[in-house]
Amino acid sequence: MATDAKTIRVIGAAEHNLKSVSLSIPRDEFVVITGVSGSGKSSLAFDTIFAEGQRKYMESLSSYARQFLNQMDKPNVESIEGLPPTIAIAQRSSGHNPRSTVATTTEIYDYLRLLMARCATPRCWHLSSKGEVCGLPIQSTTVTQIIDVLMSFKTGTRMMICAPVVTGKKGYHRTVLESLRSEGFVRARVNGGIVDLREVLLNESDNPLGLGRYEMHTIEAVIDRIVIDEDQRERIADSVEVAVKLGEGSLLVLEEDGSHWKEHVYSEHFACSKHPECNLPELEPRLFSFNSHYGACRKCDGLGSVHEFDPALIIPDHTVPLNKGAIVPWHAYGPAMRRKYGRKIRKFCDMHGIDTTTTFGELNKKQRMMLVEGGSPKGSRAKFEGVIPNLQRRFKQTESDHVRSWLMTCMTHMQCPSCLGERLRIEARSVTVESTGRHYSITQLTSLTIAELLDVVNAIELTSEQSAIAEPILKEIKSRLTFLVSVGLDYLSLNRTSSTLSGGESQRIRLATQVGSGLVGVCYVLDEPTIGLHARDNERLLKTLHHLSTIGNTVLVVEHDEEIIRSADHIVDVGPHAGLHGGNIVCQGSLAKILKHKQSLTSKYLNGSLTIPSPDKRRGVSFVDAISISKAIQNNLKQVDVELPLNVLTCITGVSGSGKSSLVNQVLLKQVTRVMKGETIDSSLCASVKGIEHIDRLIEVDQSPIGRTPRSNPATYTGI
Ligand SMILES: [Zn+2]
Ligand SMILES: [Zn+2]
Ligand SMILES: [Zn+2]
Repeated sequence: MATDAKTIRVIGAAEHNLKSVSLSIPRDEFVVITGVSGSGKSSLAFDTIFAEGQRKYMESLSSYARQFLNQMDKPNVESIEGLPPTIAIAQRSSGHNPRSTVATTTEIYDYLRLLMARCATPRCWHLSSKGEVCGLPIQSTTVTQIIDVLMSFKTGTRMMICAPVVTGKKGYHRTVLESLRSEGFVRARVNGGIVDLREVLLNESDNPLGLGRYEMHTIEAVIDRIVIDEDQRERIADSVEVAVKLGEGSLLVLEEDGSHWKEHVYSEHFACSKHPECNLPELEPRLFSFNSHYGACRKCDGLGSVHEFDPALIIPDHTVPLNKGAIVPWHAYGPAMRRKYGRKIRKFCDMHGIDTTTTFGELNKKQRMMLVEGGSPKGSRAKFEGVIPNLQRRFKQTESDHVRSWLMTCMTHMQCPSCLGERLRIEARSVTVESTGRHYSITQLTSLTIAELLDVVNAIELTSEQSAIAEPILKEIKSRLTFLVSVGLDYLSLNRTSSTLSGGESQRIRLATQVGSGLVGVCYVLDEPTIGLHARDNERLLKTLHHLSTIGNTVLVVEHDEEIIRSADHIVDVGPHAGLHGGNIVCQGSLAKILKHKQSLTSKYLNGSLTIPSPDKRRGVSFVDAISISKAIQNNLKQVDVELPLNVLTCITGVSGSGKSSLVNQVLLKQVTRVMKGETIDSSLCASVKGIEHIDRLIEVDQSPIGRTPRSNPATYTGI
């Protein structure tokens, strides 16, 4: 065994049941480590080779960096030479971030954020009173561009250059007018009408303009009155500069058009030309991250849901009279409270001229709204606090845990009303890219499946300027998506939470990230990547593993699967049996060499001299005591009805993504666990589950690794 740069040399490995074995593993090849369960394959691949790789990596760090990491014990091995940096791609990684999704794990989300910030168009999110979204593209214009636009009007056009100073604000605004006057401005435009500031300010009252107290007012300072002419360019430029400065980036130009003035709004910021209040700073990738305070929805902090008072819990019965306890939290807490809130209800009814025996169901829409949310009836100054604002105030003010927990019985987790569960602030959700004739926001992109997103990205429409910027970003996105499609994950949606993926799915997703990273000179260690993979998808996985080794990585795979073993460049057979009777290298080499080996069990299975016998007598299957699930709808399950016979071994199979894991882990397991704890079934998963009374206990045997502490054994682990 000569050491050269092309081998990893393990000497005296004695971790767990390994019998102080030494071996050389070729580098930059696809190597399968196989053997019966418990033979020591994982002890060699993970607990020796990967563990030593990690430890060497830590040693290479500065002592400063090391203090933040856990001390790693040296594995029980004399030495390992020629070991490149190691990366383990296990079935389950520890410490799942509950917010991580397919898009974030694969880094596709990071590239989408970059794409949205560099190459997408923000659109105005202004909502009309009819509920229509404005949708105009939001653009920024430089001062020079604004001047050029003005100079392009017909010579002789009369214009007023104005600067917005008050936009839709209540108040009399006397101080605003005074400060404009003191800065030397003569005229202002107030709610669309021109006024002379000198004349107005002669009136010494607080409200010189006679403005309505409760109405919104808009005031612009008139900077200059101009006539478009090439000779006037310098003067116009000066006025535009002054206006943009006073208007904090915005500018209103009034063009004389017969008897009235036509409005043109320009902005140095990104702002809608019709709705200057819909503006945003320059687009940055962090705007599209709900994990950053900058991008997160203000209402729910990026969670997508809020814990709020629920009208359905506050007024559960619409047929109860208002004075007889229709509003539960205003009634159910004792007589003193009933008197206090009885007065409030009387006040509400007086305001509307209705009887206190009216039921909630008899109120009209406006009255209901006012009772729940508060407000004043039209034309009245009387104010009513509203049930929800009242409860919110009490919730905030109370010092009693008892009252707080009692108030919480009227609250539910609801989809955030502001972002509708999309977690991002409105500005971010209004930035879109165009593809196949549709506009897509980043949340719409991530709600697509991997295959759908690839189609959208391939057909994305960009200007030539945008294309140049987008090209490297799109390349990264496409290569990751193409890979995910190639390992049979085309059906997953990008926003699927990582914790709901099957072990095989999440391993292949992490594999995709590695392939995307394009690293070379690395030793990848994988455990049973074929687990949960249908035979149809094996070939795609094999291609990937070969690709990783072809570009210059060592790929070490712990595997039983015959197809994978047969396609390996190099096979290491650990055994011959499990536990004490294993821990040796039975043989290693090419497939041809293994097949000729006399002692190798693996060889005997591969060359067909040993097979797993099918039982010749099958147990009778009875559906009398069966568990039946009806209308299961989790993930991609389409109202599935299934009957599972008891007291027999039942196998649930199908190609990757067909819904096996969803049916077993998310429907069957969750519902049975709930029923056994005495809870009702979760109706969002399926309509009903019958027959649970026939089983005493449910034991989940999943793919998460058994704790690697010396004292853990299969019995302590399963808790039997
Ligand atoms: Zn708009
Ligand atoms: Zn929200
Ligand atoms: Zn034995």
